[in-house]
Amino acid sequence: MESGPHPGFFSAPLRAVDPDVAAAIAAEFARQQHVVNLIASENIVSRAVLEAQGSVLTNKTVEGYPGRRYHSGAEHVDVIETLAIERACRLFGCNFANVQAHSGSQANNAVFVAMLNPGDTVLSMDLNAGGHLSHGAPVNISGKWFNIVSYGVDRTSGRIDYAEVERLAIAHRPKLIIAGGSAYPRAIDFPAFRAIADTVDARLLVDIAHFAGLVAGGAHPNPVPHADVVTTTSTKSLRGARGALILVGRDAALAKRIDQAIFPGLQGSPALHIVAGKAVCLSEALRPEFRQYAQSVLDNARALAATLIERGLQLITGGTDTPLLVVDLRGRSVTGDIATDALERAGITCNKNAVPFDPEPPMVTSGLRLGVSTGTTRGFGIAEFTKIGHWLADVLDAIPETPDKARATEQQIYEKVRAMTARYPIYPT
Ligand SMILES: *Cc1c(COP(=O)(O)O)cnc(C)c1O
Repeated sequence: MESGPHPGFFSAPLRAVDPDVAAAIAAEFARQQHVVNLIASENIVSRAVLEAQGSVLTNKTVEGYPGRRYHSGAEHVDVIETLAIERACRLFGCNFANVQAHSGSQANNAVFVAMLNPGDTVLSMDLNAGGHLSHGAPVNISGKWFNIVSYGVDRTSGRIDYAEVERLAIAHRPKLIIAGGSAYPRAIDFPAFRAIADTVDARLLVDIAHFAGLVAGGAHPNPVPHADVVTTTSTKSLRGARGALILVGRDAALAKRIDQAIFPGLQGSPALHIVAGKAVCLSEALRPEFRQYAQSVLDNARALAATLIERGLQLITGGTDTPLLVVDLRGRSVTGDIATDALERAGITCNKNAVPFDPEPPMVTSGLRLGVSTGTTRGFGIAEFTKIGHWLADVLDAIPETPDKARATEQQIYEKVRAMTARYPIYPT
């Protein structure tokens, strides 16, 4: 006789209990298998990370930090959270890590709670120039509660103008300066930001969400020695669980305020299955293979950039130092929304994205943001990304043709995408 609140509660598989959700998950798995995914904020986690995230840890709650919990029965989850913290510190070379933030936006909010009072001035990158919503966009809590001053990028180079950042810092005396964004393809000069922050006695937050995997794998400079605090998602190029990390280099008092800002400031119990997923992905990122993956991400991003340029497309800043690139469609007869729809019909997923000084509204845009992390994880190398670059250009070139011709091109590329993705299966069943 089976125990539980009803027969099958502990044993019946999802497909028996909820065929509708099971069918949608199966369809999503097939979709992931069959598309060339260039969405920069996505990646494919290992079987091990999936398993940790789908484990019985989902049943456990705690509040507080390892060794100082409000709920009992925490001995095993304490082991897991401690491993995650130690691994994050080893990987990024910091003394303190908080691994409880449910998301990257939440991690940034914790930094604000730890460092700022409502109304304080923050200097951060404009969303339209490639910044992130949680860095002070007017529609976000950060933009509503703080006095946001934004820096942009230079109109011709597309790069951060450090002289402008310094001028704004001196004029507005921010309490916090934020470096990092979600559509800025170039390496940021962390020592320059540190110097500017020191000039005006501001704190420096560096948000490395998109390129954390490259930092972890030694393919990008590490901001930890220069920043007061570093935030990152554990997703994207870091290739792990759905959450975030907050890293503090040396300042123990600040690290304590960050911990208090997460709990009890913003969250109750951490999601322990996600904390376990973070521990696992951090252990993966500490292995030698991860350095190869990180270098491949960079090589692939540059190969894709070179192919697109060869095909006559413009890139913001003319290239990339990160997993992402931004295509500038201004001057072509196609907008970001139309381009993404055409690419999706051809089996290539990506997102429309505003370019700096974009004349189009946010739902239209004049740009595409492309990322190579997912493809690199599948095993795509320079040869594959060169092909993908040509396919992408073929689809964009066909858009102004007659609808029949455009659809025919999309169909041809779709078949090539199916053939390539079939050779790189994910999660063997
Ligand atoms: C993706 C991203 C975030 C937010 O991550 P969520 O987990 O989606 O909240 C924060 N900052 C930057 C720079 C990002 O790119």
